[in-house]
Amino acid sequence: MNVFPLFAHLAGRRVLVVGGGPVAERKVGLLLQARAHVVLGAPATTPGLTQLARQNKIQLVDDVFHDAWLDGVWLVIAATDDRPLNRRIADLCEQRRIFINVVDDAVLSSVQVPAIVDRSPITIAISSAGKAPMLARRLRERIETLCDHSLGPLAALAGKYRKAIQKHVPGLRQRREFYDWLADGPVGAAIRARRPEQAESMLEHALLRPRPEGGGLVMLVGAGPGDPGLLTLNALRALNRADVILHDRLVSPEILSLARRDALLVPVGKSPGEDHDATQDHIHQTLLAQARAGRCVVRLKGGDPMIFGRGGEELEFLHRHGVRYEVVPGITAALACAAYAGVPLTHRRHAQSVRFVTAHNQCDSDSTDWHALAQESQTLAFYMGVGRLQALAGNLIAHGRAASTPFALVENGTRADQRVLTGTLGELPGLARLHRFKAPSLLLLGQTTALADTLHWFGARVDGRADTSHTALGEIPIEA
Ligand code: SAH
Repeated sequence: MNVFPLFAHLAGRRVLVVGGGPVAERKVGLLLQARAHVVLGAPATTPGLTQLARQNKIQLVDDVFHDAWLDGVWLVIAATDDRPLNRRIADLCEQRRIFINVVDDAVLSSVQVPAIVDRSPITIAISSAGKAPMLARRLRERIETLCDHSLGPLAALAGKYRKAIQKHVPGLRQRREFYDWLADGPVGAAIRARRPEQAESMLEHALLRPRPEGGGLVMLVGAGPGDPGLLTLNALRALNRADVILHDRLVSPEILSLARRDALLVPVGKSPGEDHDATQDHIHQTLLAQARAGRCVVRLKGGDPMIFGRGGEELEFLHRHGVRYEVVPGITAALACAAYAGVPLTHRRHAQSVRFVTAHNQCDSDSTDWHALAQESQTLAFYMGVGRLQALAGNLIAHGRAASTPFALVENGTRADQRVLTGTLGELPGLARLHRFKAPSLLLLGQTTALADTLHWFGARVDGRADTSHTALGEIPIEA
């Protein structure tokens, strides 16, 4: 090991920063978080530093470096771009046995400032001993995504009860189990749900019982539309925690590959023609059984779990059966497909509202308010099977939406095989059929979708306007 890692208590201790530029300002910010007494010496300073001095948060000496500045300091940060000066300060520090960090100069530094992940009171520090700070920073980013922000409050709570835990949970092994329970069980969940009082009372309760029950948890998680980059950090963390993952058909393999290696993957997708209610019942029972066995169950759905995914029904079921749950939203297909097709969903002049509509079961029923859907100045996003396009276009036009209204049909949105078809409502069924658009596809309809012709930037585009052969509505029959 080239360096010895230490965490320094600097509260109230004098630290000298030499230099008044942006780099110095960043270091001062960190030092102030550690409540150090910062003395900053520089002939000129950034507006931010000047303001800190005015607010008496730092002590400013606006002059060129002087040896006497080193008197009584515990640590020096040299952040000047004058190497001979940095060297002189480093030499003086060496003589006086004061630790010094010269920013971006491992040779002159006797201490390095690590890249950190701050979840106070937990701090994760990464050092490359000054050899490859860029790599340390990259590593920091990765760890940053893995560590939930609830880690800080959880550690603070554990700290507060440390003595009590030692007293009530004597054995080393039991204590480790207790801490696992604390992080993974209901206390950790209450902290993530920003309910600190509840977390504390559960902890107190558990201390009175020798063996707190695990109690399972179901996390209803949105996996987004397909591109793994569109997962939220919370979704990624849930995948890392899960013992069991019940996933829909729409969830892409790239996303499933991010799950904990030993997690049990259970596909529970509904395919067309199946008895969906029976499948849904089976999903409910599986969730219940797995949670009751004390497992962390992730129910992973395409897009957002609360949009056209029966997420609400699953939550109601869990609530009825007293199973703990959390919800992690995802990017729904309408938002993602619009963004990846270059379509703004709203527009100051052309679309003042946007509607998410399901056309899966409703095209033939009277419950759909076609009149409302046919109004101008709104963007419609239809979640649907492509087999419904004929009825859909017919109904909209019959209720007054212009056949010339532009559409963008997005197939496999955000995935490598994304295709976007553009044209007008009157031509929609014929064009979709001609170009063999398949599920999953999302239909965007309204004036703003015409912008896909110029603003598209991702994947393949099929320009329906280039086809003059099949333009009339219903000219080509499409399968139901
Ligand atoms: N909960 C999901 C929607 C489930 S309904 C969400 O929030 O996105 C399923 C329908 O969503 C599909 O029939 C299709 O219309 C749409 N859809 C989902 N993912 C899609 C994708 N990657 N590209 C295009 N449409 C998609």
